[in-house]
Amino acid sequence: MTETTSRLMPKYSLVVPIYNEESTIPALYQRVSAVMDRLDGNSELILVDDGSRDRTLDLLRELHDRDSRVIYLRLARNFGHQIAVTAGLNYVRGEAIIVFDADLQDPPELIPDLLALWQQGYHVVYAQRTKRVREGWFKRLCAYLFYRILQQLANVDIPADTGDFCLMDRQVVDLLNQMPERNRYIRGLRSWVGFNQIAFKFERDLRFAGNVKYTFAKSFGLAINGLVSFSTVPLRLSTYLGLFSAVLAIVMAILVLYWRLFIPHSTLTGFATIAIAIFFLGAVQLISIGILGEYIGRIYEEVKHRPLYTIAEVGRKIEGRG
Ligand code: UDP
Ligand code: MG
Repeated sequence: MTETTSRLMPKYSLVVPIYNEESTIPALYQRVSAVMDRLDGNSELILVDDGSRDRTLDLLRELHDRDSRVIYLRLARNFGHQIAVTAGLNYVRGEAIIVFDADLQDPPELIPDLLALWQQGYHVVYAQRTKRVREGWFKRLCAYLFYRILQQLANVDIPADTGDFCLMDRQVVDLLNQMPERNRYIRGLRSWVGFNQIAFKFERDLRFAGNVKYTFAKSFGLAINGLVSFSTVPLRLSTYLGLFSAVLAIVMAILVLYWRLFIPHSTLTGFATIAIAIFFLGAVQLISIGILGEYIGRIYEEVKHRPLYTIAEVGRKIEGRG
């Protein structure tokens, strides 16, 4: 690398996944660029348009024309939040990389605080939500339960109540970029790499404008992904269910035998028992097949080796010319 390019290379890269956020982009740019102006080095803002259907792309093009620090990627369709972040991470050039949402729920003003911890030698600074007061009780309950179950089952320690808002050192991002898996549960992969990680507590703001893009189904899908990607304990669940049914069957056999031998003239009224037993075993088998299916489906996804995303357009100025 020559002296000039190294001076032009950004020190900090900010990655923002965006899906149909036309109403927040002006405010996002205003707040983020104010923060970028105050940083102690060059920075780049990588806006990843995850196949938006509103005016997002036009707005990104405008920003890129106005400010050469703004780079945008347009994915060729909607690939989902985790893949959009992955695409952004593939393009970063900075030494410290910060990922946050476009809806301003993760306040960009906290970036200098995250950077201060990076300067102290931490490789990953993950933002941890202190409360979720403003979200509905059902979402909060589901999130609470999910993170606790995941902590119990996962084979790496994935901290509770963390999202994708974080700072990562170049070294960590290089490792993430080398990971080939398609089912990307980024906050899990980020914990998996290790190094010095620290939590940064913050209170999550309300969405600035627009609607939540994560429907319940998408969140549920992400949760299952997190569990299946980081734990094989669910597979063992079928074994436990099977053992439980076997014990139940033995107990029932003993009961029936006792009944026939020691209670004279007993007539066994069996219909309800048989019906329940059939449904119970059916349920056990279907659940087991379902769990197997989750893993096999993922194996299938992985072996296909398709690219993770397709890119329709990249807006990036070439140093010294753009
Ligand atoms: N997002 C995305 N692709 C999607 C869904 C969401 O890039 O398919 C982006 C969205 O624009 C936002 C971030 O991911 O910047 C988080 O989405 P959202 O605010 O809807 O979810 P939540 O706040 O519930 O995590
Ligand atoms: Mg949000």
